[in-house]
Amino acid sequence: MMATTPPYLALLDRVIDEVIAPAAVEIDRTGAFPRAALDTLGQAGLLGLISAKEVGGLGEAHRAATLVVEEIARHCASTALVVCMHYAGAAVIEAYGPREVREAIAAGRSVTTLALSESGSRSQFWAPVSTATAAGDRIRLDATKSWVTSAGQADTYVWSSRPLAADGLSTLWLVPAQTGGLRVTAPFDGLGLRGNYSSPVTAEGVLIPRDAMLGADGQGFDIMMSIVLPYFQFMSAGCCVGVMDAATTKSAAHVAGTSFEHLGQTLADLPTVRANIARMRITTDTVRALVLDALDAVESGRDDAMLRVLEIKAAAGEAATTVTDLGMRVCGGAAYRKEVGVERHFRDARAATVMAPTTDALYDFIGKAVCGLPLFG
Ligand SMILES: Cc1cc2nc3c(=O)[nH]c(=O)nc-3n(C[C@H](O)[C@H](O)[C@H](O)COP(=O)(O)OP(=O)(O)OC[C@H]3O[C@@H](n4cnc5c(N)ncnc54)[C@H](O)[C@@H]3O)c2cc1C
Repeated sequence: MMATTPPYLALLDRVIDEVIAPAAVEIDRTGAFPRAALDTLGQAGLLGLISAKEVGGLGEAHRAATLVVEEIARHCASTALVVCMHYAGAAVIEAYGPREVREAIAAGRSVTTLALSESGSRSQFWAPVSTATAAGDRIRLDATKSWVTSAGQADTYVWSSRPLAADGLSTLWLVPAQTGGLRVTAPFDGLGLRGNYSSPVTAEGVLIPRDAMLGADGQGFDIMMSIVLPYFQFMSAGCCVGVMDAATTKSAAHVAGTSFEHLGQTLADLPTVRANIARMRITTDTVRALVLDALDAVESGRDDAMLRVLEIKAAAGEAATTVTDLGMRVCGGAAYRKEVGVERHFRDARAATVMAPTTDALYDFIGKAVCGLPLFG
């Protein structure tokens, strides 16, 4: 039986063909922000993919977000990460944000992102050291955020701080990006994901209204674990699958179409090359199957859902580095230059292992979960 394409993927196809795919190489070369892609995704309703129908969104959830990010990542991982962070932030705003911002996101008029990582607590994003203090009837934020995708480009930041007064590890805030006292302190110039604009952002005496709090004071950790973590794990894994699939497809095409003239053979006639292409395909398909199983686990409330959610990003991140490394090997020196297109995927793939929760942190959490130990503390 033929599976039908979900309508959101049909909408996405056109945006990819017309805007995202044609811009990918240039975005990688120049580090330009994928503004045209965001505008077109917004017009197509896809920035409101996980927004509720009651505010004008498409009413989808983890599966759709994962598949959309995966599909975009096949063509442009920078755009995929920007969209991933938008959905991760939008999920929090959907649950706790004001209706007008939810409507703006659903209508494609507002882009958001996560501002969680800090130079103080680094990849341990669940424990911000930045502060929120009462300043009359407003709240004052001071922070050194170390990485914010779409910094200076998003309309809002889903922002973490220590709690205002409550117990707990953190409190979340919705901070308009134009608020006085916010500063993007350096341009992004990274190895891969070159157009994602992941810059440090500082807050010095940033004043926001009290009702900018997302959830309750001290509830940030719970929101991160229950909303941000599943969305981010799924989408990051989806991004890796898209990158792996693209690298595998391009590598296979290169080795099948590249000849040793003196032998009358292609690279694909070499058993070692074929075996490595097979390893790339198997690894990509294995991870994709794990991600789809994790989606089933979450959607059906299976007992192992949380374990699967933890597993997918670790599995996908590590697999993506392996698969793209194999692509570089089988395509030879031709891949070292840009003509095969695999080296962009190789560079883009490196980020997932060090984006929080990093692979090593996930190994620690998964090991604790499997051994029956508490994840934190
Ligand atoms: C392209 C990109 C985009 C990003 N976008 C965002 C964003 O939009 N919003 C945001 O908030 N953050 C973002 N980040 C930040 C990201 O989530 C991490 O916080 C950041 O990559 C961590 O880098 P670091 O140098 O602080 O790592 P460090 O914390 O210094 O880590 C160094 C090493 O220590 C290991 N380590 C740390 N803690 C543990 C642990 N508990 N157990 C085992 N090992 C551990 C790490 O795995 C790593 O190998 C982005 C990062 C990248 C690369």
